[in-house]
Order: sequence, then C-alpha cells, then structure tokens
Amino acid sequence: MNNRKKMLLTILTMLFLIFLSGIFIQQRIVDMLNKAAEHSVARQTEDLSLLAGERFRRFLTPLQTASKHLSEHEEDKEDMLKMLAQQNPQGQAGLIDFQHHTLGRSVSSTSFPRLQLAFHGNTVIDYNPDIGILLATPVIYGDNVRYVLYQIYPISMLPQLFALSDYDAFTHVIIQYHDGTLAVPYENYTTEDTKFWADDTIQKGMQEVHHRLERNKAAAVYTEGAEGKFFVFGADLPQTDFSLIGYMPWSAVAGQIISIYQRVVFLFTLMLVLFACLSIYLLMAQTSVAETEELRQARLAADTANQAKSQFLANMSHEIRTPLNAISGMNEMILRQELPGEVRQYASNIKSATAALLTIINEILDFSKIESGHMEIVPTDYQLTQVLREVCALVGVRAQAKNLTFKIHVDPYLPNGLYGDTGRLRQILINLLNNAIKYTPSGSITLDISGQRKDSTLYLQAAVTDTGIGIREEDKERLFHVFERLDIKRNCQIEGTGLGLAITHRLLNMMKGSIKVDSTYGEGSVFTIKLPQEIHSFDPVGVFSLNAQPDLDTNLRHQAGFIAPDAQVLIVDDNDMNCFVAGSLLKETQVQTVIAHSGDEALEALQKQRFHVVLLDYMMPGMDGVETLHKAKQLPNVGSTRFIALTATAISGSREKFLSEGFDNYLSKPMTGDDLTAMLHRYLPPELILQPLLTSSPAPAPVEAKEPASTADTPPAPPLIDHKIGLTYCNNMQAIYDKVLTMFHDQSTDKIAQLDNDLAAANWKNYRINIHALKSTALTIGCRSLNQKAKDQEQAVKDYLAEDATPHQQQQAMDYIQQNHADIMNLYRQVASSAVSQ
Ligand code: ADP
Repeated sequence: MNNRKKMLLTILTMLFLIFLSGIFIQQRIVDMLNKAAEHSVARQTEDLSLLAGERFRRFLTPLQTASKHLSEHEEDKEDMLKMLAQQNPQGQAGLIDFQHHTLGRSVSSTSFPRLQLAFHGNTVIDYNPDIGILLATPVIYGDNVRYVLYQIYPISMLPQLFALSDYDAFTHVIIQYHDGTLAVPYENYTTEDTKFWADDTIQKGMQEVHHRLERNKAAAVYTEGAEGKFFVFGADLPQTDFSLIGYMPWSAVAGQIISIYQRVVFLFTLMLVLFACLSIYLLMAQTSVAETEELRQARLAADTANQAKSQFLANMSHEIRTPLNAISGMNEMILRQELPGEVRQYASNIKSATAALLTIINEILDFSKIESGHMEIVPTDYQLTQVLREVCALVGVRAQAKNLTFKIHVDPYLPNGLYGDTGRLRQILINLLNNAIKYTPSGSITLDISGQRKDSTLYLQAAVTDTGIGIREEDKERLFHVFERLDIKRNCQIEGTGLGLAITHRLLNMMKGSIKVDSTYGEGSVFTIKLPQEIHSFDPVGVFSLNAQPDLDTNLRHQAGFIAPDAQVLIVDDNDMNCFVAGSLLKETQVQTVIAHSGDEALEALQKQRFHVVLLDYMMPGMDGVETLHKAKQLPNVGSTRFIALTATAISGSREKFLSEGFDNYLSKPMTGDDLTAMLHRYLPPELILQPLLTSSPAPAPVEAKEPASTADTPPAPPLIDHKIGLTYCNNMQAIYDKVLTMFHDQSTDKIAQLDNDLAAANWKNYRINIHALKSTALTIGCRSLNQKAKDQEQAVKDYLAEDATPHQQQQAMDYIQQNHADIMNLYRQVASSAVSQ
C-alpha cells in the first residue's frame, strides 16, 4: 500500500472515531442535561405539593374549628352546619354519629370507606369518583369520638377547587392516596389518560419516582417510550394521606436544553468539518511532498540519462569531426592550388558539403539540446546569398539524383547582410527542401525567398513548393508532432524519423518565427516560413542564380591576411593528419611551427624553446589538453605564451569550460584556414605581424578597377583597398562604388571621434556597435585589413562583455582593446584618405 492510501485510511479511521466519540459525547450531554432537568422538575414538584397541601388545609381548617366548637357545645350542631354552609357554600356539610344518623348532607361509608377512620380520631380526606371529595374531622367528647363532621365537595367542583392545572399549561397533576388511589384528577381527565398512566414506560418511571420518594420529599424521572418523552414526578402532600403525581412533556422543560444541545451539535459538526478540511489539506500536502520526491528522483534519473546521452553524442561528434577535419583541411589545401575551373568547382562543392555535414552533426546535438532545454540561438552576421548557396549545393545534388527540377527565386532587392543564427536558418531550409525532395516522386521543387522590411528588421520569407504526394487535411495538425510520420502506408519506403518538422517548428518558435503549410493531397505542398532577421547591411542580394560563381571568399584565390616569419607556434595533436592540416593551413602565414603528438612531447618542446602560441588538442590519449595546459603553465618560459584549445566537441557550454580551465580561446574542429589565421592574428605579439607580399598569380583584374602601379623587380605592395572586392559589393556598378568611397571618407572623422569617445568613456556597448559598423563598411569598400582588425577588436569587446568572463579574461580583452585601438584608428584614417585619393 502506498503512502497516499495509508494516509487516506488513517484519515477515514480518525473521522469514524471522531464521529463515534461525537455520538457518545452527545449522549452524555443529553443524559447530563436530563439529570439537571429532573432535578429542576423535582424542585417544582415540591412547590406543587406545598401548594396542594395548602389548598386542602384551607378547606379543613374551618371544619376542624367547627368540630372543636361542637365538642364543647353539642347543642350548636345545626348552627355549625349552617355556618359551614355559609362559609364554604361549595362544600355540603353534614354530621354523622356511630349509629350512622346523619344531620345535613347524608353520607354512607360505602361511598366513602375512609369515613370510618374519622371515627378513630383521624382527619380524613376521601374521594369517590361519582360523588366527589369528602373532608371529615372527628368531634371528640372526652376520649371518645361522638360525631364526625364532614363536608362533601361534588365532582363538578373538584378541578376548580383542588386541581393544580392552573400551575402551568404543560403540567398535569393528579392527587392520590398514598396507596395509589386517584383522589383529584386534572381537568379533562379521560380514559386516554388512564391508558397513559398504565403505559409500561410511565409505570416504570413512576416506580423510580416512588423509589426516590423514600429518601426525598419530591422526585422527577425522565422517561422515553411509546407515548413520547416525558418527565414524571411525584411528592407527598404534607400532613395528609395524599400524594401528588404528574407529568410534563420533555419539550416543555427542554426548550433551553434543546438550544444547548443544538449548539453542541453545531460545534461538533463544525469541528468535524474543520478536521476533514485539515485532513484533506494534509493529505494533499503529503501527496505533493511525495510527488516532489518522486519528481526529484525522476529528474535525477533523467539528468543522469541525459548526461550519458550528451556524453555519447559528444564522443560520437568527436569521432565524426576528426576525419571530417582531415577532409575539409585537405580540401582547403586543394583549393589553394592552381586548379582547372572544373576541379575547383568540385572542391568548392566538397567544401559546401563538408560544411553542411558539419551542420547536420551539430543538428543531432541540437536535438538533444532542444529536448533538455539547452538549445541556444547564436546570432552572427551573415550573407544571405552565402547561406542560400550552401543550402542549394547540398539539396541541388539530391534533387538532381531524383531527376527533379530544382528552382530558386530570390527577390533581388532583399538586403544581403543579415544578423541571425545562420546555422539554424540553414538547418530549417535544408529540412524543408529535403522533405520536398523525399516526398516528390517527379516534377519540381521551388524555393522562393522574399521578405518585408520594417525598420532594421527583415521578415524573411522562404516558401518551399513541391509537386509531390501532398498531405491529407486530417494529417496536417499532426505534422509538427515529434516522431509523427504521416500516411505510413504510402511513405514506408521513404527514410525518415518524424523529427525534422518538429525541430523546425521549435527552432522557429525560439527565433520568433512561424511556419504554415498549404497542401493538396496528390498534388503537392507549400511550406512557408517567416523569420525576423536584423539587417546589418542594406546591400541588395542582386540577381541570384544557382550557377553563380561561388562566393567571394571562395572565388578569390586565398591570400593570407598577414605573415609572421618570426612567430613560433606549437601544434599539439595526437592525430598526425590534424597536425599536417594545421601546419599546412598556417604555411602561408610563414609562422614557424613545431609539431608535438602528445602532452608529454608538448611539455618537452615548451621546455626547450619559447612559443608565442600553442594550439593544443583538447582530447588526447594519456595526458589530455587540460592537464597538459596546467603542467605547461608551471614551466619557466611560458609566461607570455597564449594557449588555444582545439576541440571537436562543440557542445553547449564549451566556451565557458575552456576559458575557466585557463585557455585563452578555443577553435572548433574542423577549422578553416581563416579561423586559424584570425586566431593567430589576434594572439601573436603585434610586432611579429607583417603585411603579406603579393606573390604569384595575382587575382584577375576586376572590371574597371584601378590597379596601383607596380615595378618589375620589387613585388608590388598589396593595395590598402581592393577595388575588386568593393565593386562586387556594389553589384559592379562603379558610380555607386565611387559614392560609397566618398561617403566612407566623409564619415571617417566623426566615426573616429565617436570611437575615441566611447573608449575614453568606457562605453563598451556603443564601442561595439561602432566597431561592428566599421567592420562591415571596411569590407564594403574592399579593405580587408581594416575589416580584419575591426573584427578582432569587436571580438575582444565581446569577450570583455561576456557574462561568464573571469576578471583575468576581462583584463586580457581590455589590454588587447587598448593596445590596438590607436593602430586601428590610424589605419582607418589611412584607408579613408586613400578612398578618395585613388
Ligand atoms: P520525416 O520526413 O523524417 O518522416 P518530418 O518531421 O520531416 O519527418 O516530417 C513528418 C511527416 O510529414 C513525414 O513523415 C511526411 O509524412 C510528412 N511530410 C513532410 N513534408 C512533406 C512534404 N513536402 N510532402 C508530403 N508530406 C510531407
């Protein structure tokens, strides 16, 4: 039996016991009250007996006086009788002698047998139900009784003269001889009353009354029987042979008792109700405590299971990311080579597919995050066209494999530079497009990208239309349920888990977006999403085509942002391939690299020479990255060395973990050459960083771009502003570009002053907004170096403002901001002046 049932049973038992004791207490109270009432009725009876005795005496006294007179003046017999008749006209007076000669009212001893007793010297009261009451007193001469003087009161007069019914309306009193013979009944005494007195319960009550009268002058007893509830009572009439008995209904006495009784019952019921309420409250409290405990246990179990799952996902992601790192690294090396256009296209496709695959791995992790409520939306600046191309590269291949036509329409006037979670957007689009492909046997898939602008927000709309199997009306509402697959009979051949749309729906909710479905069964479906995204650059998307050249970054031959031939970098990774990839990606920066395959080798290398930056793999057999870091920090010549963690485990909370362990930053594998060089650029001592020299195969000349003059024997310095990049951002329209350059120059003084002020006032929020703006305007005019520096500076401000940053990390970020601010402003001035001089 569980606790709840036990508690319920206890409460019911308690209620039953309280109910029983209530009945018992109620009975006791009634008994006590009745005893008190008996006592009070007995007192009243005593009063009644005095009253009755008084009445008899009132009539006996003149008789006794006359008798006394006669005993001395026998000759006054007739006068006395007359006098008595005058004094008491209701009583018929008479005199009787031994020979039964009567004078006045005649009498016979058969009618009044007690008359004989008067001849023995007693005062007599006798009753004959047909005649009435006889009061008699002896007339004594010497020692003998010669006459008996009497008065007879006829039946009709009795109640008026002797009955006590005038005492109160409820009290019925009978006067009787001690032997129980009725003397004076109450008014309206009938045969019914005879029956009443003959009732067993009443008889029993009267027996008890007589029993008590042996010790008391008056007694009353409560009886309850067929006749109802009554008090019967009795008392001796003083100085007579009579006694009185009577009854009164219980209700007449118990008027007050009832009100007390009702109050007691009311209070008791109230107590019972209160107790019931208290019990129910306790039961609920106990239940909720039990449930909380059960919930706690369940949560503990769920947390443990969730941790195990997260660990498993983290490990799995590590296992997949490691070879993926090699693929993407190698591919990047290929892309840096001189390649025939077709091969470059293939390599570009590999790059897109690798990025998409990486996204999918992240999505698996994301699902577990959504489930555990740890999903984070991480907004960044992105180019809409870049995302659309990556998406199309992935789904286009699948559509082609199924012989489906894949079309994309993009509103050319949409702003291209947006701020939002690009990973999630990609994930949502890929999921909808993949579904369209899966559930369309033939025909086409169309992606329509449009949107509405409101201030600095774009309500991006993406509609995926297919000519597929469609969805039945009744299935539509189950579409976004987790693990729900529709029309199973028809779709059993199609792979799927029923998770995709559920994740899509939740992600859109988290980003304040929405999704709607229009579908005609057998004809096709349209899934439309709406997603608000901040606009960070109003540059229009322009004419978007699936066959467009790959994005700017991919199209341009890769060129390092800096060189640092004197920089010493230690790469620590147990995986040979990863070491090779990292080393190769860094080659263009001309930094000097040393490879270590374990924590021990790394420590050995650190003891031998001083490194500016250590790229340290997080997960290694034997001594792992964290342990290596802690040991390295104790070595003498690592004071100024910066440690960057390399990790393939990009789950929620990684950043905080690495920073708290003492790493300066971390890079998530697979990392791109840009990621790696940007990180080095940030952490290498500035004096080691030099501008790159233009080497072989310069980029093809841009349309109408002005090239700086170059000499034959000295390689030309890289232009501060790359007009080719700038023109691309202006849709290759020179007039617009010229205008942009002028604007950049004109705004520069104000902007520099703003940034200086923000720095002086430590207004980091504004500083971040202004440096963010500089980052994008620098790229818009085609100045990569200023763009890069502004980007690094923005990151440093972000690090400084990060909620989880430790004071040490904040200090580091602050130092970086302070050291670089002046350089950036100088570069800004230089770029601004060359923007209008070229
Ligand atoms: P999965 O595709 O993995 O089964 P989803 O959550 O993506 O899971 O989709 C849920 C269900 O919705 C699918 O099983 C399918 O029945 C239906 N569905 C989704 N997209 C389409 C579509 N474009 N056309 C027809 N049915 C679709």
